[in-house]
Amino acid sequence: MLLCYLYVFCIGACCGSFALLAADRIPEKRSIVKGRSRCTYCHHVLSWYELMPLLGYILCKGRCRYCGRKLSIVYPCMELVGGILAWICFFRYGFNMLAVTSFFVIMILTVISVIDFRTLQIHDVTLYMLVMAGLVHDLVKGNVQLLSMIQSVLTVSVPMFLISRLIKDAYGEGDIQLMAITGLFLSPAENILAGFLGTLCAGVFVLSLFVTGRAHKGAHIPFAPFLSIGIGMAMLYGNDIISWYILTFFG
Ligand SMILES: [Zn+2]
Repeated sequence: MLLCYLYVFCIGACCGSFALLAADRIPEKRSIVKGRSRCTYCHHVLSWYELMPLLGYILCKGRCRYCGRKLSIVYPCMELVGGILAWICFFRYGFNMLAVTSFFVIMILTVISVIDFRTLQIHDVTLYMLVMAGLVHDLVKGNVQLLSMIQSVLTVSVPMFLISRLIKDAYGEGDIQLMAITGLFLSPAENILAGFLGTLCAGVFVLSLFVTGRAHKGAHIPFAPFLSIGIGMAMLYGNDIISWYILTFFG
């Protein structure tokens, strides 16, 4: 069993590494499947062992073997995050297809979040990927109900759209599209929960900026990373959270 979890972690770490590569290349309109990985500074092609998740970074002592410059800590961090997220999905669903499809949805959300965090943009291609992964996740779950799906697609995106009409720049177009797409694989209640948890996380973040004096008037914050946290939580533990809420406050 321990070996299984080690295996899951390694696969997750490789996916984390690939997610960062995708987040690096998609905004530059470069292919995510063609082209070898290179050092950011001297552009030397990296060898297979330098590309091993986490181990590559440790073996090279965090520096490029050719030019000796420090490699970004973001790479091993993303590999670690990928491994941990894979564990969470397998803890939740056990060793089955639901764990795999939910993990893919979460990895695409990770790519969207990294790009939004860096550029304040959500790229269409990442949203298409999320649609595909979400629909596959639905099929694996079974029991797809069209009416519930339509309700869920509209339930958060429409209020967000109306708010963004009333308050300029309240939400980006990509954020609204993101919350419409999550309706494809979350129930209406789970999608509302995702939007609520995402907004709560963003609120805490903004508050921390004010408290530490780093808030700038009129500055934009990336919303997709926070929404993604809410979506991931709602997808994996939505039913449990909703049941707990109903029992605690209305039970
Ligand atoms: Zn180099």
